[in-house]
Amino acid sequence: MTEEQAAALTREICQLYFVERDYSKLMNYISKDIIWIGARGKENFNTFEDLQVYLQNEKEFYEGSFQLANEEYHVLEITKDVICVLSCMDVCTPPEVEPVFTEHIYFTTIYHREDKEWRVLHIHNSFADGVGRKTAAAEDSRYCRDFLMIKEEAFRLAAREVEEVRKLDALTGIYNVEGFVECMESILLDDSFGHYAILKFGINQFRYLNHVLGYRTGDTILREIASNLKMLCGEREVCARIEKDNYAILLRYENREELDQRIEGFWEHFISRETEAALDIKVHFTGGVCLIEPGSRDSAKQMLDKAMLAQNYRKSRKWENHYVYYEPEMERNQLREQELVETARYAMRRNEFSMYFQPQIFLDTGEVAGTEVLVRWVKPDGRIVMPDEFIPVFEHTGFIKTLDFYMLEKLCSHMRKWLDEGLDVCPVSINQSRLHLEDQHYVEQFCSVVDRYRIPHDLIAFELTESAFTEYDQMIQRLATELHFYGFRLDIDDFGTGYTALNLLMQIEPDVLKMDRSLTANYQNPRGNLVLKKMIEIAKETETTIICEGVEYQEQEAYFKHLQCDIAQGYYYYRPMPEEEFVTRILKRKS
Ligand code: C2E
Ligand code: CA
Ligand code: CA
Repeated sequence: MTEEQAAALTREICQLYFVERDYSKLMNYISKDIIWIGARGKENFNTFEDLQVYLQNEKEFYEGSFQLANEEYHVLEITKDVICVLSCMDVCTPPEVEPVFTEHIYFTTIYHREDKEWRVLHIHNSFADGVGRKTAAAEDSRYCRDFLMIKEEAFRLAAREVEEVRKLDALTGIYNVEGFVECMESILLDDSFGHYAILKFGINQFRYLNHVLGYRTGDTILREIASNLKMLCGEREVCARIEKDNYAILLRYENREELDQRIEGFWEHFISRETEAALDIKVHFTGGVCLIEPGSRDSAKQMLDKAMLAQNYRKSRKWENHYVYYEPEMERNQLREQELVETARYAMRRNEFSMYFQPQIFLDTGEVAGTEVLVRWVKPDGRIVMPDEFIPVFEHTGFIKTLDFYMLEKLCSHMRKWLDEGLDVCPVSINQSRLHLEDQHYVEQFCSVVDRYRIPHDLIAFELTESAFTEYDQMIQRLATELHFYGFRLDIDDFGTGYTALNLLMQIEPDVLKMDRSLTANYQNPRGNLVLKKMIEIAKETETTIICEGVEYQEQEAYFKHLQCDIAQGYYYYRPMPEEEFVTRILKRKS
């Protein structure tokens, strides 16, 4: 904000307060943390609500409006977050109101930037002449002296406020990372023999929640967690919002068992049942804990980083608990994984990632029903690296999203070529990581790649592994709706390995269930047999196609034929094959 704008803003506030007396409009400019010092040191308020009540009463008391004369607006301080303006003016009662008076007023306003809006954090309203009429000269010098005094005070106040505000999180009012680190350091310094731990945690799928519930509700959730977290803080403990949907708490503990119990108890307390019920959501958390050895030489920031590393570790892997403890091994792992991703990035530019195709067969006719495309990393020396060796790492690091789009682009460009050559192209299913679910515009992006190559949508099936369902339960529905809207097929991969609730499955209406290899391999054991039968029954009733994965023997085929499964895929028919082979053996023969 420029000085002119700050002066104009203050003029507007003075107009609203003294002249228009439009207090409801005025309150829009006032911070929730207002400190209001009224004239003659009376009528002081430090809560928004008290001020609101006072202004309401004042409005009823005074009729008509004041008039302002000789206004001056001096911008004393202007920084990125704080502005201080001293206004001097004569406030006169309108002629029709008795008793008539004119007061010379100093009006200090300190603004603070909150969520990109400038709000009044402090108002000091004082009379230049509180006693009575004085000579003009005395008044002027007083004015000058007071001006300087007030200016000094305003500077001090502004400086202190800037200092305080710097440490606080504007949205929630609890500490931000700077405040947390500072406070934590002083606690640890005072109590160097105590056992401490940092728990850092975040809200799962917060971006999505924010998107569906709206940012306002998102903010309410963030505030509620902050205030509950604060209540969970004991003596010599401190909490903060570190960034976005991430919080930290410094915990003092006696032994690990007690610490675990306490942390386990936390998750239920961050958000009240009422809020969850009102919003019709369940909020889940993921955390990491760093134990602080007494006398540790790590800085507070380093310890916080360790807790964050543990949190990220937990986030990228399936785990029973909501949180894990930091281990030095995590750091080494992270380094190794980053190195692998760097190599992969380079490899991608050198075209080392290839497509392999594994046809799928109609069990009744033996014809090719479609194919799955699987990635292979072909090293310059011809060695083939299998997905199991790199996909998990790509998932931990997020690089899988880049790879998936790379594979999609490659597939579409090849399909375009096949179509142009007049080949009878069968539907191709492509594996997509669950991580995409976090991206709001993912399906649009997916669709735009497919459309760029003018591939009919019914030739593309989208494979998503069932394990995504438990973790991303709230986003799956949207994904399914969007995919179906665009006319893509949705296949649930590795079905039978997760714990998808039946009702969720009903809502999503997938087109295909791909029975996981672990199930099809165990068809002879009574339990496996029962599970398979039941699943196939449900699929038939809901008109969902079944693909049996990992069919390796003739007996397996006979069994699935008997159960009237639709499609099979496995080494018994074809192993995954490179593109040229797929084109000559399958597509050309089909055509
Ligand atoms: P998936 O999606 O379950 O793929 C099927 C896997 O089973 C493939 O392993 C395939 O080669 C293997 N397979 C097929 N038939 C048989 C059989 O009869 N017996 C046995 N023992 N195995 C069989 P692959 O190619 O090693 O891929 C492993 C996993 O990597 C895939 O499992 C998939 O989850 C993932 N993946 C592969 N390509 C991609 C990709 O482009 N993107 C993503 N996100 N994941 C991929
Ligand atoms: Ca698959
Ligand atoms: Ca599978």
